Amino acid sequence: MEGKGEAPAIGIDLGTTYTCVGVWQDDRVEIIANDQGNRTTPSCVSFTDTLRHVGDAAKNQAAMNPTNTVFGAKRLIGRKFNDISYLVDISWPFKVIPGPGNKPIIVVTYKGEEKHYAAEESHPWYSILLIKTKEIAEAHLGSTVKNAVVTVPAYFNDSQRQTTKDAGLIAGLNVMRIVSEPTAAAIAYGLDKKATSAGGKNVLIFDLGGGTFDVSLLNIEEGTFEVKATAGDTLLGGEDFDNRMLKHFVREFKTKNEMDISGKPRALRKLRTACERPKRTLSFTTVATIEIDCLYNGVDFYSRISRARFEDLNMDLFQKCIELVRKCLRDANMDKNSVHDVVLVGGSTRIPKVQQLLQDFFNGKELCKSINPDEAVAYGAAVQAVILSGEGNDKVQDLVLLDVTPLSLGLEILGGVMSVVIPKNTKIPCEKEEKYTTVKDNQTRVLIHVYEGEGTKVSENSLLGKFTLSGIPPAPKGVSILNVCFSIDVNGILKVTAEEKTTGRKKKITIKNGKCRLSKAEIKKMVQDSEKCKAEDRYHKKKVEAKNSLVNYAYKMQNTIKYDDEIASKLTAVDKKKIEDAVKFVLQWLDGNQLAEADEFEDKKKELEIIWHPIMAKIYMG
Ligand code: ADP
Ligand code: MG
Repeated sequence: MEGKGEAPAIGIDLGTTYTCVGVWQDDRVEIIANDQGNRTTPSCVSFTDTLRHVGDAAKNQAAMNPTNTVFGAKRLIGRKFNDISYLVDISWPFKVIPGPGNKPIIVVTYKGEEKHYAAEESHPWYSILLIKTKEIAEAHLGSTVKNAVVTVPAYFNDSQRQTTKDAGLIAGLNVMRIVSEPTAAAIAYGLDKKATSAGGKNVLIFDLGGGTFDVSLLNIEEGTFEVKATAGDTLLGGEDFDNRMLKHFVREFKTKNEMDISGKPRALRKLRTACERPKRTLSFTTVATIEIDCLYNGVDFYSRISRARFEDLNMDLFQKCIELVRKCLRDANMDKNSVHDVVLVGGSTRIPKVQQLLQDFFNGKELCKSINPDEAVAYGAAVQAVILSGEGNDKVQDLVLLDVTPLSLGLEILGGVMSVVIPKNTKIPCEKEEKYTTVKDNQTRVLIHVYEGEGTKVSENSLLGKFTLSGIPPAPKGVSILNVCFSIDVNGILKVTAEEKTTGRKKKITIKNGKCRLSKAEIKKMVQDSEKCKAEDRYHKKKVEAKNSLVNYAYKMQNTIKYDDEIASKLTAVDKKKIEDAVKFVLQWLDGNQLAEADEFEDKKKELEIIWHPIMAKIYMG
């Protein structure tokens, strides 16, 4: 690469809590250390009056600046606020609110100003981390990095994958391919032992990270990877073990000093952050110490904890992981004896007890742990990157990568029924065509709603997008033939085409999911102007203002006729009733329409004005 000015493609594991980057160099994968010398970087971004910090620097000041330190935001990608509101309540000190389209919006104060950011947009999190990762790689390689393979959880849907690609573009990276995390881990181990036997190899990937736990069962056959089943818990990981230790030390501090810090957020944060180190140490030693100066009220805290005590504090959580392994096997309809390899992924699988329980479950089987568990995914991504860029040696060249669709894809047919076009777990890339027809006589347009999910009714699934095919020649129902084609590219991104047979009229779209996706133009704009969120702020503000204005107006009407004696005395019974009914109607409407658009609030306000003004005019003039 030297002299060309362009670095080889890199592999990035953008984790919920830590990010790791690898590159193929000198015929092997090199995991790249950051400027602090760490091989993984906290997926953490913080905002201050003057600066933005990323990685270790952000994490180090988290206890001091909790409300402006964003971490774990990967759980927000492509999700609706309702789906993650349980997380907002319990685990995050930074503010997350519902935004347009029920998208979660992160609220932080940056340079003294309140900023609202959608989770996937450039500023708060996703792209900033990718930019940082790119810089880490460039510092190591001494040249510009342009191409990358980025990993995502196996259950990430089409839109979440697209969001990941978009974030890459904003960061100035061409995302050559999105690869599932368990697939990447399997690639990391699959290099030397290609599965060639009939029926392939069944591999269980056990990924216990910082905030999430994922089990995936893969079948690897002739170099292709297929996900048979996944299970897990988005709320189980290393941070829970830190929390258990935290509670233990809070009790101890209380006993020793007769001071209860359980309601003291600052002290708690300080202690929680400090717990991660002894936890890590206990994976290698049987006793660890903790030392915090001035934990609370000038009192220092020095203590020790044994590995046995730590295991005791977390045993139920460890057991839960094993339960989920059982569930994954059950879902795949597979006996544990049919599993050929068990791969450890995620920093928390360094915990000896976790390894032991898992090994016992598999009747003493040797676990694959020769690659550092928190680096295995980035390792596999780096291997994939070199394959795709056509470099590297024969060792990697003949590994074919095949991923599968995590959920079924289809469209809505009569009666709100889901008609599956591409079933779950279909190998990608793929293309499938189905024939449909009109359901009414002389129907000239069909609305195509594309859904993702396993429900038989579309109402149980999630809507990815919709479009209309018009210009169908009038004919009795059931006569026109519509060919609908779903195609998914190597990145798992979906295109849907609908064609009417007789006229050849065609409509083709790449599904834009629930405004989660960004258009090329939008991305370009964001690259040039990372202040893009301002437009959304304005939209949001306009809506809030319109709603408030309507509420105020309704209450002003109500209060005037109740408390303004002069007006009340001149009001006829009929007019009074008219006003009361109108106000009541609007307040009821508001109850059910909190998320309406600005113009709907404005319309409702106009309706009130039309009633209010003539009555007031009568009173004042008469
Ligand atoms: P992610 O969840 O982002 O994929 P990782 O796989 O890097 O992250 O896992 C991070 C978690 O692993 C953190 O909670 C960290 O404390 C934990 N961890 C890292 N090293 C060890 C260790 N030696 N012992 C126990 N836990 C560890
Ligand atoms: Mg991970």
